[in-house]
Amino acid sequence: PRGHVVVVGGGFGGATVAKYLRMWSQLGVDVTLVERNPQFISCPISNLVIGGDKTIADITMGYEGLTRNWGVRVLQDTVTSIDAGARKLTLASGAVLSYDRLVLSPGIEFLFDEVPGLESEAARTSILHAWKAGPQTVALRKQLEDMRDGGVYALTIPRAPYRCPPGPYERACLVANYLQKAKPKSKVLVLDANEEITSKKALFTQAFERYKGILEYRPGSELREVDAASRTAILEFDKVRADVLNVVPPQRAGDIAAKSGLKLINKRWVDIDWLSFESVNTPGVHVIGDAIFPAPTMPKSGHMANQHAKVTAAAILNLLAGEAPNPNPVVMNTCYSFVDVKNVIHVASVHQYDAAKKTVLPVSGAGGVSAAANEMEGRYALSWARNIWADMLV
Ligand code: FAD
Repeated sequence: PRGHVVVVGGGFGGATVAKYLRMWSQLGVDVTLVERNPQFISCPISNLVIGGDKTIADITMGYEGLTRNWGVRVLQDTVTSIDAGARKLTLASGAVLSYDRLVLSPGIEFLFDEVPGLESEAARTSILHAWKAGPQTVALRKQLEDMRDGGVYALTIPRAPYRCPPGPYERACLVANYLQKAKPKSKVLVLDANEEITSKKALFTQAFERYKGILEYRPGSELREVDAASRTAILEFDKVRADVLNVVPPQRAGDIAAKSGLKLINKRWVDIDWLSFESVNTPGVHVIGDAIFPAPTMPKSGHMANQHAKVTAAAILNLLAGEAPNPNPVVMNTCYSFVDVKNVIHVASVHQYDAAKKTVLPVSGAGGVSAAANEMEGRYALSWARNIWADMLV
């Protein structure tokens, strides 16, 4: 097939779809990738940077491999609007691009207006999320280094679905692990809006046991408001004053997906056709990764975004050739979580398209979780990261 595909966002979904469109079309389809940041910084492994075992350089990579090895045209710019009728989009630089098919993988945007006290930029320079890897990852690490021994680190978790279900629990473990060694009088408080741990519950419960005395988990503790000046998390019946307050706000699809007239579910996530990842109301625009309304039990993960990308690349090549997408896609996911700097747990699952329900459902009997945290999986987790980064970018 021939044609021009524009991809918005060079994260787990976007970089992968750009590469695989070139690979599987044998360089026949032209691909332009628009990414606002100069480099890719990985959220997976970023909790180890916050815990102090890795550096930001360890999780930062360039886009040059996509151009050198695959001939993807990479533009560092921001897409500001889409004219889906005319199949054109406009960039912040003023340039206009035409496309035959458009793929959006813009990740998430935070709903700061749902957290009174966090609306202002000023509040958000001291109360960090570090839920997009980058400057905030480094800044949160610095806050922990500067915290006194005997201080309180409080982490708030929004209601599911949010990016990376196990991510907050992994972060709590790694911060507790660091504080146990460096500032043993300190506390980690996990304030979870959900009624229970939303991923790998038994395994994280075991992990939290190991941090007894340092880490306290409080389910059903939804954040109502923040007093940024005193770093206080205001809950329904309680106020928690912290030395380091780390708020993971509620989320929705990235702006370019949420504000371009694509049909949303719950006003947050894009409604797509699971065979092609095409928006249900906007022909020619495909959406993948964290920005979509998830299928049952499907996590918002980098691994999943990588799988969405491959189904979408194949579907677009079929569509450009005048054929229907594969009617029976299967995707899988593995999420590793560090409970300390060496020991890791995983959850894996397989998801298959169900033609009657027109969605993707978990395959029963496939997948599973670790028996217990172990060092072997610690090595696997680092290999998983190196492999998926190479699969996206090299
Ligand atoms: P992203 O990877 O966020 O990419 C979106 C890109 O789009 C960004 O680079 C952004 O700059 C760009 N962009 C957005 N809008 C525009 C625009 N208008 N113009 C130009 N560019 C734009 N997943 C796992 O599988 N395993 C893990 O171990 C894991 N650990 C995690 C740990 C943490 C702490 C966090 C926060 C997440 C973790 N995740 C993990 C989840 C994973 O990071 C996300 O699910 C994944 O990044 C989603 O990919 P995406 O392509 O949808 O979005």
